[in-house]
Amino acid sequence: MDRSPLFDTFARAPIAFERGEGVWLTTTDGRRMLDFSAGVAVNALGHAHPALVGAIKAQAEKVWHVSNLFRIPEQEKFAQTLVDNSFAEKVFFCNSGAEAIECALKTARRYHFVGGHPERTRIITFAGAFHGRTLAALAATGNPKYLEGFGPAPEGFDQVDGFDLEAVEARIGPETAAILIEPIQGEGGIRLVPGAFLRGLHELCDRLGLLLVFDEVQTGIGRTGKLFAYEWSGVAPDIMASAKGLGGGFPVGACLATAEAARGMTPGTHGSTFGGNPLAMAVGQAVLDVLLADGFLDEVARKGLYLKQRLASVVDSHPDLVDQVRGEGLLVGVRCKVPVAEVGAAMRDQDLLGVGAGENVIRMLPPLIVSDAEIDEGVRRFEAALEALEQARAG
Ligand SMILES: *Cc1c(COP(=O)(O)O)cnc(C)c1O
Repeated sequence: MDRSPLFDTFARAPIAFERGEGVWLTTTDGRRMLDFSAGVAVNALGHAHPALVGAIKAQAEKVWHVSNLFRIPEQEKFAQTLVDNSFAEKVFFCNSGAEAIECALKTARRYHFVGGHPERTRIITFAGAFHGRTLAALAATGNPKYLEGFGPAPEGFDQVDGFDLEAVEARIGPETAAILIEPIQGEGGIRLVPGAFLRGLHELCDRLGLLLVFDEVQTGIGRTGKLFAYEWSGVAPDIMASAKGLGGGFPVGACLATAEAARGMTPGTHGSTFGGNPLAMAVGQAVLDVLLADGFLDEVARKGLYLKQRLASVVDSHPDLVDQVRGEGLLVGVRCKVPVAEVGAAMRDQDLLGVGAGENVIRMLPPLIVSDAEIDEGVRRFEAALEALEQARAG
């Protein structure tokens, strides 16, 4: 450990993988593991999906990168697909969730700047949020644990506790530009935001001339059974950040917006060297082609319900260790009564991968192509992990 050439920023589990196929990963020492972590909600189509492998190979033989000094047909096509299937009219491509959030924040501030309100720079955010690890995304996240030691955080973020419309309105002032929220808090512990609250935020933004910004980095790209989670609430944002599943494992991020909200993002105001490169765009396009095929997203919703039902009966039989199943689609969490790290380790011993989150929740985020039989197998392994924990704690 001490002699690792890597920054010591990650507490890594002592396993590494040689290859993957669908929902399965094979470790370098030959163990086959059922992957309900999907690289933290990234591998939307699982590992080595033939459509993605085909797309990346075909594009790799043509052209990888040309920079945004030129037109990129693959980028225009992918943007058009996103526009055709969302509230958005404009897209900016980048390489990660935090970058998509940066672009969203800049877009919101510029909107007011060019509209004659340069004083409107402040962003309302919510306790329990996660928006990424750049300094501005951390300031928006507002978690003191992540900010400690990193000097002054960018100014201009006002955090509200709870999903309380009166509390939000009380924080809005003449300098407020936008409200930034995840429709479901992922890292925060799969905390569902009530649809009525999102509709209330939309009404508030309309009334006060603010922009509504959704962070769908984790909830988007089919994870909840809709292409974007906001569709469940019937409330469309003005600006939205996407990443994670967008490239199915290839780094792709995007900031989506209405033409009106993006009006300040004129030539020279923003940029990215790698963002929107042909290779990334070809993979992203292939992800959406699969996701948008007839019936795919309905299947995700159905399988999500099935997973939650199966987990609920496990929770009922182990009330000493776990006490709640939450989530939407295949963005599912189980709240634990013992440290979530212990549950994650016990799952790994059963060759099942999950991801910890806030509120002591273990996330189950299988690739969206998971089968019913694989869900059954995952739930069986989860229960075996709980039983092993029970025995260890009794012994
Ligand atoms: C993961 C995540 C981010 C940050 O994405 P990166 O690609 O790690 O920068 C931002 N917002 C949400 C909701 C996320 O889940």
